[in-house]
Amino acid sequence: MDQEDKFCPSCAAALETKDVFGQDRPVCPDCGRVMFYDPKVAVICIVPRDGKVLMIRRATELGYGQWGLPGGYVDRGEVVELAAAREVLEETGLKVEPGDLIGLFSEPGNPVMVAVYVAQETGGTLAAGPEALEVGFFDLDRLPDLAFPRDREVLAKWKDG
Ligand SMILES: [Zn+2]
Repeated sequence: MDQEDKFCPSCAAALETKDVFGQDRPVCPDCGRVMFYDPKVAVICIVPRDGKVLMIRRATELGYGQWGLPGGYVDRGEVVELAAAREVLEETGLKVEPGDLIGLFSEPGNPVMVAVYVAQETGGTLAAGPEALEVGFFDLDRLPDLAFPRDREVLAKWKDG
């Protein structure tokens, strides 16, 4: 858990960890408040072109220098498809229109769930944004060094329809 609070937001007592509803959660020993944490939502896009897919070489700390499908976090209150298009534009310079949802990917203990869309290009110019070292299109059977093994699973699910 990367977002655990140390102190109770209600009464500022130091929180303790207790099993509540089958999971260890921070609990306030003074007022009894239990901290429940929501998942975070991220979105990534599969942008196909001539049988290849768009990928970015990451300039961010997590997976620096390795490749991944373009995407990022969805802001609270933001429409998921618009977040997807915003992230692709920021990272790759391409304007896209997200279409079919391929799936919602999650794993035990990971606070981030990832929505995956197929998106069609509608314009723009391919150029690495501030969060990318390089951008390019790759054959599915000749993928570069991936930051997240999940991307391979995501692409396999897309290819298998
Ligand atoms: Zn409290």
